[in-house]
Amino acid sequence: MKYIFISGGVLSGLGKGITASSIGLLLKESGLKVTAIKVDPYLNCDAGTMNPYEHGEVFVLHDGGEVDLDLGNYERFLDTYLSSDHNITTGKIYRSVIEKERRGDYLGKTVQIIPHVVNEIKETIKRVSAGSGAQVCMVELGGTVGDIESMPFLEAARQLQMDEGMENVMFVHTTLVPIMGVVGEQKTKPTQHSVKELRSIGIQPDLIVGRCEEPLDVSTKSKISLFCNVPVTGVFSAHDVGTVYSVPKLLHNQGITDRVRERLGIRKGPTRMKNWDDFVERLGSCRETVRIALVGKYTGLKDSYISHYKAFEHSSAELGASIDVVWIDAPEEGKEWSSDLDGMKDQLSSCDGVLVPGGFGARGTEGKIEAIRFARESDIPFLGICLGFQLAVVEFARNVMGLKGANSTEFDPDTGYPVVDILPEQLRVTQKGATMRLGAQKALVSEGTLAFDLYGKTEISERHRHRYEINPAWIERIREKGWVFSAVSEDGIKMEVGELPRNRFHIGCQFHPEFLSHPRRPAPLFYGLVQAALEHRRNGG
Ligand code: GLN
Repeated sequence: MKYIFISGGVLSGLGKGITASSIGLLLKESGLKVTAIKVDPYLNCDAGTMNPYEHGEVFVLHDGGEVDLDLGNYERFLDTYLSSDHNITTGKIYRSVIEKERRGDYLGKTVQIIPHVVNEIKETIKRVSAGSGAQVCMVELGGTVGDIESMPFLEAARQLQMDEGMENVMFVHTTLVPIMGVVGEQKTKPTQHSVKELRSIGIQPDLIVGRCEEPLDVSTKSKISLFCNVPVTGVFSAHDVGTVYSVPKLLHNQGITDRVRERLGIRKGPTRMKNWDDFVERLGSCRETVRIALVGKYTGLKDSYISHYKAFEHSSAELGASIDVVWIDAPEEGKEWSSDLDGMKDQLSSCDGVLVPGGFGARGTEGKIEAIRFARESDIPFLGICLGFQLAVVEFARNVMGLKGANSTEFDPDTGYPVVDILPEQLRVTQKGATMRLGAQKALVSEGTLAFDLYGKTEISERHRHRYEINPAWIERIREKGWVFSAVSEDGIKMEVGELPRNRFHIGCQFHPEFLSHPRRPAPLFYGLVQAALEHRRNGG
């Protein structure tokens, strides 16, 4: 097993994840089996209990792991499925150490950060990477070098190089190269400082990737090389490019693939990027544009809906149309309600499609319901995901079936018309962490439906994350009035996809199709929405 650790210096948000995914992709396309681990130094056991508005989207894996959104990047770049073990957090490590202590595994020893916590980290990294059957494991160290909470992980990485041998463990450090002053000088001091910090804990980076607005000058590269003790061929420029999908090529053209292979003693060979290049090429050569509204609650932080955005890009490349996502913060009931609603409707009428994504909590739900109503009544293509699906049924119950006050019991436990209700198995759940209906679940699709047209098969598997469902007691009545439940769980009880055939494209799903969308393999429901939106636009709305 070869390990490539990716650390970050100066500040967060430098695209460590993209650097790691890009190197991983380049190695994969040169014939190696690659996996990835993301280390998050926070004390939460997983990302499931974290607010997307602070931390970005909670990504969901096949096994139900609720993880950092970087795992989504790895799955999409490496075209693989990871398990929740691939997201290591301080919380998970401490939990395991404390469990061992309670069991008496440490045989009377004083349990300490070094060696016990650090050993636990090393063992976890080794176990997870070995379990994946890969030859190379990318390990992205979250946070910034110098953070107190990252220390045990950096120490574990340093020790792992000693344990496994120099030729099996390498370090890639990503830093910021700011441009200052009127002459636009590229400054290397922040890089020098962060590398100094890294070296002070015994880690010498093998490669440095400098994030900069412009390509790094030759003189900048030489300076970084000199002060950071890295050959100039080991300094790479990660300057601004149109899309993150161009980063692998950007680094490859500077020779990163060969450098990594040399350093790890892996034989050289061709890197076959055709599939990826095709995707980037298609994405960049769209001839049409279509506007799709995303009506959500955390639209101020685009990372909250990152996988939706990616799923749009995947569909965009296949359909040759770029997507202008119109981010709409769902209006709140209150003083400005009616003018906010008018504002939202104005925005929606300039769009050719509407997406209402998943969510939790009452805030914004009435606004989302109004957005769905507008889409349904104006026959604008609509896709509702999880909460968006549940609210589409609530909207229908209220405005078509005439059930005033119909709601989900999540928002109104006393509603007379609980068309969405808690899953029976959730009634006994008291803990919040990792207790929803999570992960990949099979669903059976009925032929002759829109869902079947999109998926092209009768059995699908998609990832879930919810506690509520369309209330089984109401399904017959909703059906009678026009909804078709076109996919159901294997036991036939849970409604997985519902559609309204009287509209051109009005569909919702209980699962999250965005988590399984990949370049060259867009999620069928997103593809369908974009395709319908394109037709809507071509027909003049
Ligand atoms: N809050 C809803 C539920 O728990 C929807 C969840 C979601 O959209 N992910 O069922």
